[in-house]
Amino acid sequence: MTTLKLSQIGELSLLEQIRKNFKKKSKNIIVGIGDDAAVVKPIDKNLVVTTDMMVEGVHFDLGFITPYQLGFKLISVNVSDIYAMGGRPYYLLLNIAVNKKTKKIFIDKLFDGVKDALNLYDTFLIGGDLSDTNIGMALSATLIGYAKRHIKRSGANIGDRIYVTGYLGDSACGLEILKRIKKPAPLESKERRAKSTEQRAMSKGSTLYALRSTLFKLGLPWNIVEPLLRRHLLPEARNPKSFIRSATSMIDISDGLLIDLWRLCDESKVGARIYIENIPLSFELKRAASYLGISPMKLALSGGEDYELLFTVPIKKKVKAICIGEITKSERVIVDSSGKERPFIAKGYQHFG
Ligand code: ADP
Ligand code: MG
Repeated sequence: MTTLKLSQIGELSLLEQIRKNFKKKSKNIIVGIGDDAAVVKPIDKNLVVTTDMMVEGVHFDLGFITPYQLGFKLISVNVSDIYAMGGRPYYLLLNIAVNKKTKKIFIDKLFDGVKDALNLYDTFLIGGDLSDTNIGMALSATLIGYAKRHIKRSGANIGDRIYVTGYLGDSACGLEILKRIKKPAPLESKERRAKSTEQRAMSKGSTLYALRSTLFKLGLPWNIVEPLLRRHLLPEARNPKSFIRSATSMIDISDGLLIDLWRLCDESKVGARIYIENIPLSFELKRAASYLGISPMKLALSGGEDYELLFTVPIKKKVKAICIGEITKSERVIVDSSGKERPFIAKGYQHFG
């Protein structure tokens, strides 16, 4: 069963399985998977639409990520964009190009990851497309959401405080660890883990057990490494609900704090002053980075894929998030712990760069 290839089961039976697995569960979905197009009931808010591609060899390497994680991450990345606009995700369209020699179990795991993430964000798969490909795999997701009031990158005002929703650099550190262990870490969502596989996964002779021993020999205990790998492999998008009424501008940190702050500043036509001492670094990041001999601050400032939200709030408003600096007229500087200012430039990942 586990060795079945896609070419042996065919597109139709795969579609039938997807259809059964993702039967509509919302009263607003009038026609779900299975017809020529989906039909959904509109509601009295603005539509927010985003799409993201993940390409093998560019965005992911199957030597580092499991199909389950790939599915989960694709959804989180898209949800993060909807949240960053102040929206709430509802409907997903999913396009997959994959080689027909791919094992069926690979696609099953991919869809398990998609399903777990969709449940996490209370979002529904309503359609998509499948295609054979001779080269690497590619995934593309389109997510449709609603926003009562959308928040753009361009609304920051001089004097606004700059906030982030959580620790930075953890995901980049997780990737550094993966590069050293050179194999996927078989983590699954907390819910799925609790339900089934944990005991099996932790037994002697399992991949997870072997991984833990490898890491232990490198001086990296599992309780330090696990949350960092999780942040990279199974990121969870941050819901802005609690501060949405106060935010003047917002962006999600996908390419790195400095480059994404730079983008927000460009759009708002302002500058920014951030304080090194206020950048939130997790205990795990500090521990692991020192073992790996890399600067945790560098990972926090320039490492990508944290999917925390970066937003601005007028000085008088209080929100529950971490204040890292303030919006200035035009200068873009970092203040170090001795109070010295130095200009920063946008550093992070750029395609075609
Ligand atoms: P068409 O030939 O009209 O494009 P398909 O045979 O590709 O139709 O798709 C049949 C149904 O299955 C449609 O409802 C489509 O949205 C859905 N579907 C196809 N691929 C996927 C996918 N990867 N994920 C979810 N739904 C899919
Ligand atoms: Mg089609």
